[in-house]
Amino acid sequence: MNDQTNAWITAAAVGLINCHNCGLLHKVAQAHACCHRCGTPLHLRKPDSLSRTWAYLLAAYVLYIPANVLPIMVTTSLGSTQSDTILSGVSYLLVTGSWLVALVIFIASVFVPVLKLVILTYLVISVQMRSTWHPRERTRLYRLAEVMGRWSMVDIYVVTLMVALVKIQGLADIDAGSGAVAFGAVVVLTMLAAMSFDPRLIWDNAEKNHE
Ligand SMILES: [Zn+2]
Repeated sequence: MNDQTNAWITAAAVGLINCHNCGLLHKVAQAHACCHRCGTPLHLRKPDSLSRTWAYLLAAYVLYIPANVLPIMVTTSLGSTQSDTILSGVSYLLVTGSWLVALVIFIASVFVPVLKLVILTYLVISVQMRSTWHPRERTRLYRLAEVMGRWSMVDIYVVTLMVALVKIQGLADIDAGSGAVAFGAVVVLTMLAAMSFDPRLIWDNAEKNHE
């Protein structure tokens, strides 16, 4: 057996199971239902990984609509009220010349969440179709989606900062709109979807194909 074939063998195939809490390695034959060291239930793969990921993804797609249609920020100044959605906020910043801030908000609030949803959807479908296409690249895509998640909160930070700054100055009254709640939910649901997905499933199909 050379290194090339070794690369396709998963720990599960050689009878090893990892505690996902403390990392202790067990032999499947000796392993009881729980970890010897910390008592966490042992699983070869995250249980119901695909259906859980699908559920979180679908909920995120549904909430993505109100997150963009409903106002994320409501400003009241001298008696007039103005509501801004994510995109109207971005276009307002563009018009007033703050194109760098507009770009950052567009990338963080529109581009990254959509890209992350698309990557996770692609990964789930590719595992369900038992794809053996480039498992290493697909694992990298998964890591990318995981890392990107934390940057989607930038928009919520901007709204929070604006609300705090304006309220201190007392010039106008700014409140977070209902779109902000939906947007926060999309970010959290996408993070949960990424956590529910088990990237080892990508390698299970690749291994079966190499047997
Ligand atoms: Zn453990």
